[in-house]
Amino acid sequence: MEKVIIIRYCELHLKGKNRGFFERLFAVNMERALKGIKHEIRRRSGRYLIEGFEDDDIELILSKLNKVFGIHTISVGYKVKSDMGDIYLAAKLVCPASGTFKVETHRADKNFPMNSMQISAQIGGRLLDDIKGISVDVHNPEHMVNIDVREDGTSLIFGKFFKGAGGMPVGSAGKGLLLISGGIDSPVAGHMIAKRGMSIDCVHFHSYPYTNMQAKEKVIDLAKILSSYTCGTTLHIIKVTHIQEEIHKKCNSEYMVTLLRRFMMRIAERIAQRCGAQCIITGESLGQVASQTIEGMTSSNAVIEKLPVLRPLCGFDKNEIIERSKDIGTYDTSIQPYEDCCTVFLPKHPVTKPKMEDVLAEEAKLDVQSLVDEAIGTLEIVKL
Ligand code: ATP
Ligand code: MG
Repeated sequence: MEKVIIIRYCELHLKGKNRGFFERLFAVNMERALKGIKHEIRRRSGRYLIEGFEDDDIELILSKLNKVFGIHTISVGYKVKSDMGDIYLAAKLVCPASGTFKVETHRADKNFPMNSMQISAQIGGRLLDDIKGISVDVHNPEHMVNIDVREDGTSLIFGKFFKGAGGMPVGSAGKGLLLISGGIDSPVAGHMIAKRGMSIDCVHFHSYPYTNMQAKEKVIDLAKILSSYTCGTTLHIIKVTHIQEEIHKKCNSEYMVTLLRRFMMRIAERIAQRCGAQCIITGESLGQVASQTIEGMTSSNAVIEKLPVLRPLCGFDKNEIIERSKDIGTYDTSIQPYEDCCTVFLPKHPVTKPKMEDVLAEEAKLDVQSLVDEAIGTLEIVKL
């Protein structure tokens, strides 16, 4: 009898001819997540089994697998020879000491001498005889004992189905560039898009010395947490101090954020070209702050030449975003109080509904191209 972790995956069956590609990617992502932990991953008719691990590592393995997109459910159980004696011994280990239970059998091996009803009845009957504190409840049991008689002469016996991370394997849907600030929203936006199978690179803009080193460290920490879901990430760090100083010097201060946003988008598109990203992702949410009106988005979107901009949080309320950031583990880092570059030179009354002709008139006071080039020249790369 061997202890195993059973992994069932989602949606991969939808992908027809690409199925092999998706499954290989999924297995590679699980391997990456479990790097450094003793284990073996095997594919078994529509599911994966993790075997050969140390008992003490189970919690660690489950915590890593919880971040692998594409996993539908996970169970911990036993693999035994398909023999009623062996199946029973494993069922006894899975069965609780008290409460109500039900045995459910799935028989893929049609040559097995008993059908699934008979297997469940016999194993359930023996469990009832042997364990005094339990009783059967077929309609609403507190505990399940599941028996899966596989075609290869082995059976899997397990209790609970734990919900996995869902989604699609990272890497199956291309690559995007996330504009990551130190705030709550952008890491959540990156997580949502990664969940649909996209690899994520990140770009962060800072205004050192107006923003401090801790603010940068905080973003590195956030990108690191995100990378635990995305099988790694590359963080591109760009200094925009000179751009903000120039806007401050030459333009109407009410346009600081509007103009800065347009610079961020231009620079992001250049970085995306360099790193092979096929879209830009932001944490904007409609109407959340002054710069996130539809007019503000129209203004920043207008400088993008080729790529789509994904704004997965557009329809979310702030408290929904906060819930998600707590779930994915970025919240505590996001709320550390360091300034973002958008708060530097922040005007008292930023324009909330910028008119395009006014934006263009303000921007005409700047040498946009050379400011962008200078920013690209400050690029620092951190691999996480
Ligand atoms: P967040 O919580 O992600 O900071 P926010 O609600 O504070 O978002 P804004 O500050 O208006 O909103 O930023 C909107 C989006 O612009 C962010 O979600 C992020 O994608 C991008 N952004 C803002 N500041 C930066 C920055 N310094 N570097 C990179 N991207 C940024
Ligand atoms: Mg912010």
